[in-house]
Amino acid sequence: MPTASDLGERALIQRITGRLAAPAWVLVGPGDDAAVVEPQRGTLDVLTTDAQVEGVHFDHRFMPPDAIGHRALAVNLSDLAAMGARPRMALLSLVLPGALDVAIVDGVLDGMLRVAESHHVAIVGGNISRSPGPLMIDVTAIGSIGRRRVLTRRGARPGDLVFVTGTIGDGAAGLESLREGGNGTPQETRFLYPEARVRAGMLLASNRAATACMDLSDGLADGVRQIAEASGVGMSIEAEALPVTGEVRRWHEARGGHPLEKAVAGGDDYELLFTVRPSHLGRLRAVQRLVGTLQLTRIGVVTRERAVVVRYSDGTRELPPGFEHFS
Ligand SMILES: [Mg+2]
Repeated sequence: MPTASDLGERALIQRITGRLAAPAWVLVGPGDDAAVVEPQRGTLDVLTTDAQVEGVHFDHRFMPPDAIGHRALAVNLSDLAAMGARPRMALLSLVLPGALDVAIVDGVLDGMLRVAESHHVAIVGGNISRSPGPLMIDVTAIGSIGRRRVLTRRGARPGDLVFVTGTIGDGAAGLESLREGGNGTPQETRFLYPEARVRAGMLLASNRAATACMDLSDGLADGVRQIAEASGVGMSIEAEALPVTGEVRRWHEARGGHPLEKAVAGGDDYELLFTVRPSHLGRLRAVQRLVGTLQLTRIGVVTRERAVVVRYSDGTRELPPGFEHFS
């Protein structure tokens, strides 16, 4: 396979745009100076952007190219899901080292386009530049939502119940396992190909079941702290209630780690953390019926006192510090 430099910018762009399909509401798609799209009537736009950088977010040694592409779009869709939005389109900025094998570019696109197709997201434009160092994939995603449906981090009130979708701790355990050489565990797959909870987010918003919501890209500890801070409340989390799979528990126990503490601290799960008023539990049950096998688990309560604590079977502990870039 040729490298990015062998092929050149024009040929690379053609190679990528040739694979993109455009719905009718995209009036001008990739290939012009900018994209032109028809807005969705009666809705607000929701916009987000997130870059994946080689050496910071991914490592070629244990991440196949399609997983890199999958994650680059999925992490953005996860942010839209956290707002309750329906994803609609994305812009893709690729910053490539000249010596990068074009097969890797193809693989990144394979993974990204699978996610785009499954969520009906159109890639409407983008840009390619040369990188003097690492590979960088910057995605901007745009979704739509009704004016009175928007979910933010700010609406949690004392007495609200705290819930999480799916299971937590898989992402962090998967990454550790991949760093140890990889064993083909389900956690590794969940780290490599995270599933954005788009449908759950949209249903929580459209049923007005949640008072606050965010996604757990940086871990449960971080999520709990962010919602508490934005809402001006505290939270009390029951560690024993956390949905941690037996597989993840055993994985940590075999290495002498505390599985629940690991699940609280770990990132990369892309589940939704949200709060529900007790009088709205009926709405939540309606959402649970519609999301099918995705479990919604109650893990704690919002408190008036502004501390954020996790109660373990052997006592209450302050939250461990969350993940921060630049620390
Ligand atoms: Mg987020």
